[in-house]
Amino acid sequence: MYHINLIFNKIVTLIMVFVISSACKRNLCMKIAPFKQPRINNAPGNLFVDESCIDCDVCRWMCPDIYSRKGIKSIVHTQPISEV
Ligand code: SF4
Repeated sequence: MYHINLIFNKIVTLIMVFVISSACKRNLCMKIAPFKQPRINNAPGNLFVDESCIDCDVCRWMCPDIYSRKGIKSIVHTQPISEV
């Protein structure tokens, strides 16, 4: 029974990969979320959170000095600075 579940999961995964990749090839994925449309609350700079943020909290958890939450999504509240 375990092998049947494993094979079924692999088939479902392959179908999902095929569906998603063909949607992206036809540019349909760009219609799902407005990618690369920066949120207006980001601090000015090269790094930003766009409107496709799903509020998963990973960025805020990993880099609270850079990211915070504004409304229902994340923003970049401080642009990162690195020493050269
Ligand atoms: S919360 Fe942060 S890591 Fe999660 S989707 Fe939004 S921007 Fe990306």
